[in-house]
Amino acid sequence: MSTELLQSARARFGEIADVGAAIALMHWDQEVLMPPKAAPGRGRQLATLSAIAHRMATDKQLGEDIRRLSDIGLSGDDAKLIEVAQHDYERATQLPEAFVETLAEEQSKAYQAWMKAREAADFSAFQPHLETIIDLLKRKADYHGFQESPYDALLEDYERGCTASELRPVFATLAERQSELVKRIVDSGNQPDNAWLKGTWDEQQQWDFTLRVLRDIGYDFDAGRQDKSIHPFSTNFGLRDVRVTTRLDLADPFSALTGTIHEGGHALYEQGLPEEAARTPLGQAISLGIHESQSRMWENVIGRSRPFWAHYESAFREMYGAQLNGVSLDDIHRAINTVEPSLVRVEADECTYNLHIFLRFEIEVELIEERLKVADVPEYWNAKMKDYLGLDVPNDRLGCLQDIHWSHASIGYFPTYALGNLYASQFFARILEDHPTLWDDIAAGNFAPLLDWLRTNIHSVGRRMTASELVRHVTGKDLSAEPYLNYLETKYSELYNLS
Ligand code: ZN
Repeated sequence: MSTELLQSARARFGEIADVGAAIALMHWDQEVLMPPKAAPGRGRQLATLSAIAHRMATDKQLGEDIRRLSDIGLSGDDAKLIEVAQHDYERATQLPEAFVETLAEEQSKAYQAWMKAREAADFSAFQPHLETIIDLLKRKADYHGFQESPYDALLEDYERGCTASELRPVFATLAERQSELVKRIVDSGNQPDNAWLKGTWDEQQQWDFTLRVLRDIGYDFDAGRQDKSIHPFSTNFGLRDVRVTTRLDLADPFSALTGTIHEGGHALYEQGLPEEAARTPLGQAISLGIHESQSRMWENVIGRSRPFWAHYESAFREMYGAQLNGVSLDDIHRAINTVEPSLVRVEADECTYNLHIFLRFEIEVELIEERLKVADVPEYWNAKMKDYLGLDVPNDRLGCLQDIHWSHASIGYFPTYALGNLYASQFFARILEDHPTLWDDIAAGNFAPLLDWLRTNIHSVGRRMTASELVRHVTGKDLSAEPYLNYLETKYSELYNLS
């Protein structure tokens, strides 16, 4: 009886995954290949398929089957699968259909308003829409339910089990020490001379180099491909088709490369998810934060390290010849790690990046917990930018209107970027304990020990654990700011000669 029931539930999960893959493929095509006149038709096709996917995921019979399977008391992976499926089913069915429709309508209005408001650098044009979004999200939190803060109910969509009260002290410590570190860097007067970066960097060379590095770090081109898109991203249509995109910038030899390594880190994770759980909720990535830990470890910890560049230095010189005359390995290493406080998050360097996140997190929590009015967001934002990065915000386009997230009602998403940095450092400290010679391997261009470790300890877990359980399981400790701060302070004290 339970075997039959489980088989039928598995078949349904498989169908839901297949429709999801079709949606993802259509999105990929939209960003990479689709001709412009196809946009309205594609919008309809995606809406139809999304409605089908939602219907399948919230089907009453599926819910009944999951409930019965949960009551039977399965064991091992079957029990895990049903636990995860029940969580997803409950989340998906907690919101009344009429509410989901209203939220979608308001989101689309808010997005249109945000684009115009950003163009005009006029927050007041976006303000009423953001007020509506916040009200709806507070209702959403009520539908889902929460223990401490309504913000926790929103976080749950991106980082299951994570709470505002868990993040607040960690982020506060980081904000203080990271802004202190940035101030010391700025005051040191030791900015590298990056004049050699000016000029044009050959497009074909850049493209070939991204492919080479992607292959070297272990990305399987028989189960994926790289293309160009305006915004780099990674996506998958199953374990054996995980794709990445990158964007070439002729004025910057590092932009496409670091973008590729970042998306490659996401893709390596997806290519390494547990095969035995494919096409089920258990075979998915744990959370956005864990996903981001993979991309950021490869991009920042590895791709911006000296051993990495010691390995690729000669290839880099061969590609660009005279453009690198008089440029040393140190110059390359310092250029790719240049710290410069800036107003725009997506252009921020590794050292300042989290500070952009903390201020968004604080604003989101204050809004959802009703301590801040939407009208006061610009003032709050600008004061925090001054406090954290020492910058004056000239207008709202470069300030609180810069990101798309709030217009999409994606509140609770931003913290996952910072969490990715924290998880990455905490995992990496553990990897170095297990592999004391890892940096020698990297300097020799041997990335297999690192990938093997990630495959065994992180990728193959699927959703058998939550993010905090995984961190504890892998490192023996709870999430902490210390490994990341140690990493940043050590790396940048050396690069900037801080005493
Ligand atoms: Zn990412």
